[in-house]
Amino acid sequence: MHDTARLRALDKKVLWHPFTPQQRWAASEPLVIARGDGCLLYDTDGKAYLDGVSSLWTNVHGHGHPTLDAALHAQAEQLAHSTLLGLTHPEAIELAAELIDVAPWGLTRVFYSDSGSTSTEIAVKMAFQAQQQRGETRRTRFATLSDAYHGDTIGAVSVGGIDTFHKLFKPLLFDALVLPAPRSPGGDEEATALSGALALLDAHADTLAGLIVEPMVQGAAGMKMHSVDFVRALIDRAREHGILVIADEVAVGFGRTGTLFAMEQVGRSPDFLCLAKGISGGYLPLAATLATEDVYDAFIGSPEENRQFFHGHTYTGNPLACAVARASLRLFDEEDTLGNVRALTAQLGRLLEARLAPHPFVVDIRQCGVMVGIDLAREGSPLPADIGHRVAMAARRHGAILRPLGATLVLNPPLSLTAAQADDLVRITRKALDDVTEELMA
Ligand SMILES: *Cc1c(COP(=O)(O)O)cnc(C)c1O
Repeated sequence: MHDTARLRALDKKVLWHPFTPQQRWAASEPLVIARGDGCLLYDTDGKAYLDGVSSLWTNVHGHGHPTLDAALHAQAEQLAHSTLLGLTHPEAIELAAELIDVAPWGLTRVFYSDSGSTSTEIAVKMAFQAQQQRGETRRTRFATLSDAYHGDTIGAVSVGGIDTFHKLFKPLLFDALVLPAPRSPGGDEEATALSGALALLDAHADTLAGLIVEPMVQGAAGMKMHSVDFVRALIDRAREHGILVIADEVAVGFGRTGTLFAMEQVGRSPDFLCLAKGISGGYLPLAATLATEDVYDAFIGSPEENRQFFHGHTYTGNPLACAVARASLRLFDEEDTLGNVRALTAQLGRLLEARLAPHPFVVDIRQCGVMVGIDLAREGSPLPADIGHRVAMAARRHGAILRPLGATLVLNPPLSLTAAQADDLVRITRKALDDVTEELMA
């Protein structure tokens, strides 16, 4: 058994956690997760929690899945790591071919890295370099949606728009063209955003190298959602202007919206597709940037011409991660994962409507596949700024892990969640919200 008290004390002494107010953390009793099994996580004292946000939107088929575990062990016996700089290896090759098979039409090249941030940073640099090498030297800027999130490296932050995370770094960033985006799909808000966005694309067309979008769901923005018509219209207009289209499916990819990739519903192929989070089933850090042959051609030339892509990470295309990613893709077929997503989507919709919509603090519920955002607010006296955090802490006491985005509660469970677990997850979320409501009213 683990000594939980010792681990907690040591954590507070030596660790620095991401996106975490460390002062509040130091005053808290951090949950130490020791084990995962299916959609449950267990702490060091053996207590079980539903993984309500898929371990930060990564887990697909559950923790400790025998097929993924076996793929990892088998690969470990062969080769844990070798480089893709100057060498190659079977798992990277096979996975690339398999990704191209399932990806939207026209994407024919796979460039690996290890996080969502690197996958978008790479797409941005590739789009820029491709335009430069095609002689489109005036195309030096990128268009992005308001409240976009593409990761935390400086290039990814430059095309991001979440003020709380990004404002401070402004002096370090390159300037992007921000297009308005709605909070909910359809309706007047979206129509107004779209006409504004198209006008901006038209006005800046000849200086834009690329357009980067999170299709269907802007996750980190608080599960902002738009219709497929909205993103399709943007993509079509960008294409007319010779602007390269980057689809950041780091969050929505691998089944979360109901199709393997959101772009299938949009009905368009991008010039770049960024993948990470769910690519390895949520097991290991792996990312991929897929590109078209047209983009790839812009990098072809003799070594003396120096047209190659000047970018690469040391652990790029790690064999262990690639082997697990291949097994995860196979599971989509073997376990009819998308079939479960369809059932789960319908069930979650009913449960949210019945149990959460009636709560007086719930002002909007958005859902796309298994991705859910629940906005909290109160008429008259505003809710405390840490309302989301408080509800998440209450949910933990009832046995579910949630991680909110400000005053938006987020549910984004593994795709293998069972019907009974979905019921528990929504029930616990409601109970947690009731607990906090009671505290506030007291
Ligand atoms: C999480 C996320 C990223 C960043 O991925 P990291 O692996 O955390 O670097 C980029 N884009 C989107 C849409 C994401 O949700």
